[in-house]
Amino acid sequence: MTDELNPFEIAQSQLDTAAELMQLEPAIHEFLRWPVRELHVTLPVRMDDGTTEIYHGFRVQYNDARGPTKGGLRFHPHETIDTVRALAAWMTWKTAVLDLPLGGGKGGVICNPKAMSPSELERLSRAYIRQVGRILGEDMDVPAPDVYTTPQVMAWMMDEFSFMRGYTVPGMITGKPLPLGGSAGRGDATARGGMFCIREAAALKGLKTEGATAAVQGFGNAGQYAATLGSSLLGMRIVAVSDSQGGIYNPAGFDAEALVAYKLRTGSVVGFEAADTVTNTELLELDVDVLIPAALENQITAVNANKIKAQIIAELANGPTTPPADEILYDKGTYVIPDFLCNAGGVTVSYFEQVQNAYKFYWSEKRVNDLLDEMMTAAFHCVAVAATEYGVHNRMAAYTVAVGRVAEACKLRGWV
Ligand code: GLU
Repeated sequence: MTDELNPFEIAQSQLDTAAELMQLEPAIHEFLRWPVRELHVTLPVRMDDGTTEIYHGFRVQYNDARGPTKGGLRFHPHETIDTVRALAAWMTWKTAVLDLPLGGGKGGVICNPKAMSPSELERLSRAYIRQVGRILGEDMDVPAPDVYTTPQVMAWMMDEFSFMRGYTVPGMITGKPLPLGGSAGRGDATARGGMFCIREAAALKGLKTEGATAAVQGFGNAGQYAATLGSSLLGMRIVAVSDSQGGIYNPAGFDAEALVAYKLRTGSVVGFEAADTVTNTELLELDVDVLIPAALENQITAVNANKIKAQIIAELANGPTTPPADEILYDKGTYVIPDFLCNAGGVTVSYFEQVQNAYKFYWSEKRVNDLLDEMMTAAFHCVAVAATEYGVHNRMAAYTVAVGRVAEACKLRGWV
């Protein structure tokens, strides 16, 4: 079986498998295969040298049966509409598996933020809101950070949107800086939620996390906090990490805090202390207990799934594993914590942020983290039970839980 690498075709085929398993009615199945709404925009942006660059962007609102659509916004040179569609579908399943009163959406702009100055990024962020703002809003569709977008980008977008409305609207976007209505605990929420899942998976597998070895692919927000929280919360030894420049490996383990400081100072993990170099591909195949893909889609495929040695794969990235790889890993007995469960901590704390914005009453970090733990742990076990009931891998189990909830909402609303 060969791998299909178009993320939207992957998302649709995963849904097809779940629909068959659940014997979903044909109309609901067909409805859930497509985004309900999408907007394509063209954005002229003045560059620092006085020239104008034209950028293309998207916002996909996949399904809002359970509430306003919710999901991040990516700035990436290889962004495509099909990637955004897939990510919007996965957001729909993510909010549903956590039982949040939200739908799923996603946005993207084709650009290379690493080659842009802060003021160029600001103008691009504001231009995006001037076009897309008409379909956004706290009760309509709420963006958040994702690959190469930051709390500062969220702040510019909130500001631009607020000028369009005529008053400050903090709840139109999440992942904001704290002084603008951000939530305590949002910064590390994606990784923290993943750590709670690893803790539960390790307990099921009879693996002690204290001293367990872990490799992290990708060293952005999720990867960095996975390294620091993996050590501090779970006592894991972080033996390998990589980013878009390359990777490093030291079986003795790295000081995660020092590694993050080095990455923030130099822009890459490459060159940190005494370590062997590894490629992003080699990192996936290292002999470690826990593998944490925290970069992009399509990393674990039919080509390398067989070579993976980790007992647990905790998907902090969206879409890192293809369907044929899922089957190989399931047959091998690898415990995969699927993306839209494992990385749902981010959107869960985004939801807390929306609640706090609505009430204008802010919670302590402890309250956020404790509630996140409760909700992630409940969702994890709900999926684990479904996996046993249906006799399928965890991703398919998570689909049955999520699709069941979204389908029920569509039906109750009288849509299908
Ligand atoms: N971009 C994150 C995700 O893929 C967070 C989305 C959000 O907070 O709305 O889950």
